[in-house]
Amino acid sequence: MSERTNTRIVLKSRPVGMPVDDNFEVQSAPITSPGDNEMLLRTLWLSLDPYMRGRMSDRESYAKPLELGDVITAGVVSQVVESNNADFPVGTIVSGMYGWQSYAIARPDDYRLFKVDPDLAPISTAVGITGMPGQTAYFGLLRVGKPKAGETVVVSAASGAVGSVVGQIAKIEGCRAIGIAGGKTKCDYVANELGFDACIDYKEAEFPQKLAEACPDGVDVYFENVGGAILDAVAPLLNKGARVPVCGFISAYNATSEDQIRMPEAVLGALEHPPESRFFVVTEWIDEFEDSARALGNWIKEGKLKYRETIVEGIENAPSAFRMLFTGENFGKLMIKVADAD
Ligand code: NDP
Repeated sequence: MSERTNTRIVLKSRPVGMPVDDNFEVQSAPITSPGDNEMLLRTLWLSLDPYMRGRMSDRESYAKPLELGDVITAGVVSQVVESNNADFPVGTIVSGMYGWQSYAIARPDDYRLFKVDPDLAPISTAVGITGMPGQTAYFGLLRVGKPKAGETVVVSAASGAVGSVVGQIAKIEGCRAIGIAGGKTKCDYVANELGFDACIDYKEAEFPQKLAEACPDGVDVYFENVGGAILDAVAPLLNKGARVPVCGFISAYNATSEDQIRMPEAVLGALEHPPESRFFVVTEWIDEFEDSARALGNWIKEGKLKYRETIVEGIENAPSAFRMLFTGENFGKLMIKVADAD
């Protein structure tokens, strides 16, 4: 093992606003050997997701914040490179929550450890469309949004890891899918390649009017990813009986004071006819992840789901790449390629 070291990235200081490189420290640590029943995993793909920003603050949320010095939380796709467990032989591809590091020790009873089926889809998708973001779209839309054929479904951050899947599943369910995204290139992709009925650029003048024109029958389901001015434009269009799965509100994640944050629940609750709305966390359905991964993988095989990945090479680039989520420089699922599989 002496030739291998674990490169890991820890939280050095809490970001104020947009994270900067100095909030992180890249460390080299010796690799420990797996104990009884354990496996040593080598990270192949590292996921970068907006929720990680919340973990870097000490603000209260549904998940415990990171402590200074902790490895940054993240989903990964890894390969078993040493094993003391017959169910996970060397070579097995898995996904799990092992953070911004190049090696990790795994125990087979970790409830977030899954075997990845390389025949289902490329293994990188296990942190993308067949993994957490895809599952978020799948369960958030189908279980909380409850779309019916013929209804209008609107989704923000529509070219992204979650939003792109929401609109495509809405189409599979026979709905009208309207995306909201930043810039013409992303909107063209959403409408022309992903097959949404329309995609409206929120950076353009008259965005609220253009959105209203694209939704002549109002909005039955709004899948909330962004919050702020985008929610303000969608809210007046919501039909009586509409459903709003609150998945996230990325426009507020780098807010520097609490009074800059308007929670979607407050905006929606103030409407004359508040929609059926709740914040959900994808892990509510973790017991069903294997089934939904198969459903998503099959839709990819059938050509009903398309996806795009923004791949940055090298684990040491994770801090700078992470900012792309908040500047919109990512286009589809953002991930770091750490190593090739053996
Ligand atoms: P994306 O791949 O969609 O990347 C983030 C995108 O958000 C950017 O590309 C950008 O797109 C858009 N964005 C960033 N800042 C702003 C802003 N200030 N105003 C408008 N748009 C902005 O990320 P994900 O698909 O991974 O995540 C989408 C949402 O889903 C997030 O809110 C995230 O927290 C949430 N989420 C929630 C989960 C849950 O269990 N509840 C699980 C996973 C994700 P553009 O260029 O179009 O502006």
